[in-house]
Amino acid sequence: MKNIAILGSTGSIGQQTLDIVSTFPDQFRVVGLAGGEKTDLLARQIEEFQPWLAYSPFTLALPSKTKLCSMEEIASHPEVDILVVATTGKIGLLPTLAAIKAGKRIALANKEILVMAGQIIMAEARKHGAKIIPIDSEHSAIWQCLRGERAGISKLILTASGGPFHHYSPSQLAEITIQEALQHPTWKMGRKVTIDSATLMNKGLEVIEAHWLFNIPFEKIAIIVHPQSIIHSLVEFVDGSLKAQLSFPDMRIPIQYALAYPKRLSNYKLPRIDLTGVKSLTFEPLNYAKFPCFRLALEAGKRAGTYPAVLSAADEIAVKLFLDCQIRFSDIPTIIGETVSLHRVVANPTLDDILDADHWARETALRLAKRGSLC
Ligand code: MG
Repeated sequence: MKNIAILGSTGSIGQQTLDIVSTFPDQFRVVGLAGGEKTDLLARQIEEFQPWLAYSPFTLALPSKTKLCSMEEIASHPEVDILVVATTGKIGLLPTLAAIKAGKRIALANKEILVMAGQIIMAEARKHGAKIIPIDSEHSAIWQCLRGERAGISKLILTASGGPFHHYSPSQLAEITIQEALQHPTWKMGRKVTIDSATLMNKGLEVIEAHWLFNIPFEKIAIIVHPQSIIHSLVEFVDGSLKAQLSFPDMRIPIQYALAYPKRLSNYKLPRIDLTGVKSLTFEPLNYAKFPCFRLALEAGKRAGTYPAVLSAADEIAVKLFLDCQIRFSDIPTIIGETVSLHRVVANPTLDDILDADHWARETALRLAKRGSLC
């Protein structure tokens, strides 16, 4: 029996994690839940799963056995075996570090944490013997392909569905509405990651995530557009062999894999692929020129230091402004690009340097959006 705590339990990944946990009551027990704005849903989850620990930024009536505590306390609690980090943006960073210092197994869905502070996170994980297992479908695929393979890797190939606007012209891209951007062709996800997928920022963040997680240089990470989202990523080896992981695009598959690793569990609820029904798997190169957010992310990742934290923070602000109908879709890369270009980088940053850069980037992105009368 594994004790699971979930940060971000009311989000898309959090809810799907609870679906997996309830399918295996003899394997997993929920001992901690942390939610954000959806307090009604969090209250229902606490009622159903009766965790010992809970966090909410808002007032919440709790059952007598549930103790209200901080996300850091949940993350590092001695009774927690696996911490699922299903928050979005910066909020999961400090709790994840607390879990790492307590030597926990971390099932990581919150990619911004590795983007912001990959070097610190991975160094601390090595120091404290904490294992970070990715939930992001591409990284889960690579993790699975790399099992039993220690050397001889020539390239990681991340697949991208291309998002809903892969074939749009620049003028069509400028006119995109929130509703259009929230319609992802193959994946059902939270709002932030869906917008990031439409701008291709998500794929850029995933390249940085893969760089840290698999300790591989940026030059050895490639992107290929694969609209069906059946192949979740590939590894190319020095002998020319490719290994790929395929499954129906359903996030419960990588979530379950991260929870049960190194075992695989039989789950009748998870969809199977009928390859004869799929008929064809297609691939095309990414049109980099059309998606400036991808280029910005890649540049920030390569320039390193505090640049990726600034990129990630500016993206969080820009996506929020877009979702609040304050800016246009095409303003997202403009705000991020200008914020990054104004940043005075700190090479080899400490955690405080990263948090300072994050704070500066949020204020700067907001100021730039207002100055350009975009808001
Ligand atoms: Mg992904």
